[in-house]
Parts: sequence; C-alpha cells; structure tokens
Amino acid sequence: SKTRVGLLFGGRSGEHEVSIRSAQAIAKALKSDQNASKYELLPVYIRKDGVWQKGEIAQKILASGEPFYLPEEKTTSTDLVPSPSLLPDPTNFAEIEVWFPILHGPNGEDGTIQGLLTLMQVPFVGSGVLGSAVGMDKIAMKMIFSQAGLSQVKYKMVTRSQIWSNPCIFPKLCDEIEAELGYPCFVKPANLGSSVGISKVRSRSELETALDNAASYDRRIIVEAGVEARELECAVLGNDQPQASVVGEITFASDFYDYETKYTAGQADLFIPAKVSDNIANQVKEMAVKAFLAVDAAGLARVDFFYVEKTGEVLINEINTLPGFTATSMYPQLWAASGISFSELVDRLVQLALER
Ligand code: ADP
Ligand code: MG
Ligand code: MG
Repeated sequence: SKTRVGLLFGGRSGEHEVSIRSAQAIAKALKSDQNASKYELLPVYIRKDGVWQKGEIAQKILASGEPFYLPEEKTTSTDLVPSPSLLPDPTNFAEIEVWFPILHGPNGEDGTIQGLLTLMQVPFVGSGVLGSAVGMDKIAMKMIFSQAGLSQVKYKMVTRSQIWSNPCIFPKLCDEIEAELGYPCFVKPANLGSSVGISKVRSRSELETALDNAASYDRRIIVEAGVEARELECAVLGNDQPQASVVGEITFASDFYDYETKYTAGQADLFIPAKVSDNIANQVKEMAVKAFLAVDAAGLARVDFFYVEKTGEVLINEINTLPGFTATSMYPQLWAASGISFSELVDRLVQLALER
C-alpha cells in the first residue's frame, strides 16, 4: 500500500509564500509517474495566523498558489473555519505516516515544528530539534562551526539588552565592534533568514541604526566582519553518511544578497557548477559535509560559503536546514546537476526520514 505523506507548508514566517511554492513543486513530484504508486499526498497548510488546515482547504491553496488571507472585517479566525486550532490535535492527522515539513524561517525551520512532530511520534523529513535550532541561530551555529575547525569570518555576539537597556554601555559596545571588526561589517538578528533585518554598515551612525533595527527582530544579534567574496553553495543529502552535490554560485548586482535580490525575479543568477578550481570545489564539499554533521543535520541542508578569491580562502557562512525547494531553487538544481532529478530527490528524502 502507499505511504501517506503529510506535506506541511505555509507557516508563521516571512517566508510563507516561498513555502507554498516549494510545496507545490514537492506535491508535483510526489504525484509524478515515478512516485505516484509509492506515495499518497496529504497536504496540510499552516495559515499566517498559525491555524492548521488539512483536506480541501489545503488542496486549494496548493492548487492556486495563493495564501489564505484573513478578511479585513472584524471576524475572529474561529468564525471562518470550523474548529481551527493553533496547536494541532494529532488525532486529526493520525493517517499521516511521514511528515514532509517545508516551512522556511522561524516557526518551521528552527526546531519548533520538529519538536511538535517528535512529540507526535511520526517520522519527518529533515533535521530534528537540535540540528534545526542550531542551523537557525547564527551564534550557536558559528560556535559549533568553530569547534569543528571550519574557517569563518570574525564575529561578535551582542544582545538586545546591551543595545536597548543601558544607554551608558551602548557607545562602548560600538567602540568594541569598531575595534574588533572594523567596517564594513554586517549586523544580523541571530534567528532569521532571507536576509531579513540584516544591514551592511560602513560608519558609526549606520552601525547604531543597524543594531537598533536588528534588536527589534531578535534578542540575539551577531555582528560580522564583512568580506569581499564570491558566494558558493553546496547541497547535502543523507543522514549519517551525507553526500555533497556539485558546487553552485550566486551572483547579483546589488550591494549584498538582500531580501529584494533573493525574491525579485532576475536580480540574481545561479551558476551550476560554479566556475572554480577542483581544489576549491572539493574544499567546499568537504566543509559542507563537516558542517552538516557538526550541527546534527539530517536529510537535507544547503551550506553557503564565501570564497575570497584574492587570498584563496574558503569561509563557511551558514547552513540552511530547510532550503528553498521550488522548481528553480538552488538546492534541487544542485542535485539535478549531480544526477538526481527533482522526483528522485523527493523520494530519497522521504526514505531518509523513514530510515532514521
Ligand atoms: P540569511 O540567513 O538571511 O541568508 P546570511 O548570513 O546568509 O543571512 O546573509 C545574507 C547575505 O548577506 C549573504 O548572502 C551575503 O550576500 C551578505 N553577507 C552576510 N554576511 C556577510 C559577511 N560577513 N561578509 C560579506 N557579506 C555578507
Ligand atoms: Mg540563512
Ligand atoms: Mg544566507
């Protein structure tokens, strides 16, 4: 009999729309000739307000690609849908044999959903609580990378309370950042993605504004020395013996790979394989697998790098445990270029979840 796959998408994050597009591509793959005899698709949609919906409503969102919008009038969400719940009742999803969460960003990629699915005692695609949480928190991630001997940019951890609570320590904090990291540097909320809340700063006044802005997104903030580098990405697939894909490169005309560049068509170009030497490509692949194992990732991850061509250095930037998975996203494209089609990739990920 067919394995019933709960495709979990949407979610309470800024990447809701991307998640719908990723889910559409995965749904198509599950229904492809290659997979249709093996899997039955059960879509489950998490609305922007956090309500879980299965059945027809989820099917409709998947078919239309349009998010569910709450009407402007003063109706509560309970008026709209019979018995919705922010915390789903597992008995509503008892038929699901394996979950495929494809939620990007906070409340999806960060271990929260993974904790819930763990409590439900149903296998799921991708990293567990630890790998997801570490992959989302740029400070924890950098500490673990450093322990694993992976080269990265210099950074400094800052907390919201250092920025907001005590006006006396703020100038000293800025002095320290200037002395330790210099300009340009990057100010980032620790627990976000899609470049949300990230600023590239070149002066004291920009630094002050950027710290204040980042503090509005997160309690934990990271400031990094800026490097001038090419951006390389590598896809990893597997559990305890993960494999690395060919290496890809992202190029863009904007100052850095910010939100607009990521989500406006035509602003960034992917090159697969990246035009780098075999030596650099091999270094990237080796570091990608090391990073995957270091944070206890599982199933899939995309690992991103800075290649400083002037010095020949390869620095790890970050790991993304639920990377974009649309038909044109880097992760599936890297595997396609490595000989694994989109449909096969989806099949392998479900099998990896069941094997774990
Ligand atoms: P996110 O998780 O939101 O993608 P990143 O840490 O990858 O955040 O940063 C987004 C982009 O900002 C990178 O792809 C890169 O273009 C730029 N960037 C971030 N940190 C640095 C840095 N230390 N030096 C140079 N560019 C950086
Ligand atoms: Mg990221
Ligand atoms: Mg990134």
